[in-house]
Amino acid sequence: MAKRDYYEALGVPKNATDDDIKKAYRKLAMKYHPDRNQGDESKKAEEKFKEVKEAYEILSDAQKRAAYDQFGHAGVDPNMGGRGGPGAEGFGGFAEAFGDIFGDIFGGGGRRGGGGQQVYRGNDLSYAMEVTLEEAATGKSAELRIPSWDNCETCKGSGAKPGTSPKTCPGCNGSGTVHMRQGFFSIQQTCPHCRGSGKIIPEPCASCNGAGKIKRQKTLEVKIPAGINEGMRIRSAGNGEPGTNGGPAGDLFIEIRIKAHEIFERDGDDLHCAVPVGLTMAALGGSLEVPTLAGSKVEIDLPEGTQHGKTFRLRGKGIKGIRSSYPGDLYCHVSVETPVKLTEHQRKLLKELDESFRKGGDKHSPNAKSWTDRVKGLFK
Ligand SMILES: [Zn+2]
Ligand SMILES: [Zn+2]
Repeated sequence: MAKRDYYEALGVPKNATDDDIKKAYRKLAMKYHPDRNQGDESKKAEEKFKEVKEAYEILSDAQKRAAYDQFGHAGVDPNMGGRGGPGAEGFGGFAEAFGDIFGDIFGGGGRRGGGGQQVYRGNDLSYAMEVTLEEAATGKSAELRIPSWDNCETCKGSGAKPGTSPKTCPGCNGSGTVHMRQGFFSIQQTCPHCRGSGKIIPEPCASCNGAGKIKRQKTLEVKIPAGINEGMRIRSAGNGEPGTNGGPAGDLFIEIRIKAHEIFERDGDDLHCAVPVGLTMAALGGSLEVPTLAGSKVEIDLPEGTQHGKTFRLRGKGIKGIRSSYPGDLYCHVSVETPVKLTEHQRKLLKELDESFRKGGDKHSPNAKSWTDRVKGLFK
């Protein structure tokens, strides 16, 4: 399928300013946002939302915009390169639970740096967060310590030792880019000398080693949506590493790990648990109390003659997944236990019981007869 022109997607002219692009994106992103488009329209709106978002990600980044202007879609193929590409997360639906799906709209976005310097988006950061099964079911809000970067106070962010100043890079005369001819094309490349900053620092600041930034920590409040499952990722836009030369910051991804539970095992929206039942209770029947993940108790009527492995399904006692309308079920698997540590008296009773069972033939062991018959067939 031919891809739509990015300028067309945003409805802006080719010479649109960064501001125009941002405004157009903001308007369209609101219009097509998944939260505002339910039912039949939602699929179409989602496509539009993705298209608009992708166009903005390219056109708001000076470097990518330049590549797109020169080479079209081939120059900015979102499937190439390391950052996964726009919309790769597929989490747009609930990223707003995080509160800043629009962070990349209001948070500055890509800018063309002063003096024609190359701007770079910062790297993404990823975090693994462990939650209990209960927390995954109900959702929770957690505090996360993440790295943040402040301008270095010693050099005021310039990276140069106080009293000295950065010099214009001789390799690119401060433009941050160099041109190379290759066949018919003139290819613009980041200046390898100054790595695109346009400046070189003869005497780096001792506090930040010339980076101009100091790494610190900040606390971020994270909302884990109810129903989240193992391996899902939450995106927090703009909380990754800072960009270079005014470029946008990367994103922070929080990957969810769910701790093993003592009782329950999760399978999608369903839960499973093994319920040990004594031999006599399985034979005589009775009332069995089982716990639910929510902390309540449910009684199961255990019929007389319940076999090992019998499963009872408790509707709606599972987990309501992020995209599910109803909670899953809880499956209780009966595990019949053979009595151990018998007293003399108990052993005697069991022997009597055994004799009584033998007199009754196979009828007390419904599976044994067919098994014996099948086994007989194996012996000549
Ligand atoms: Zn410094
Ligand atoms: Zn340079």
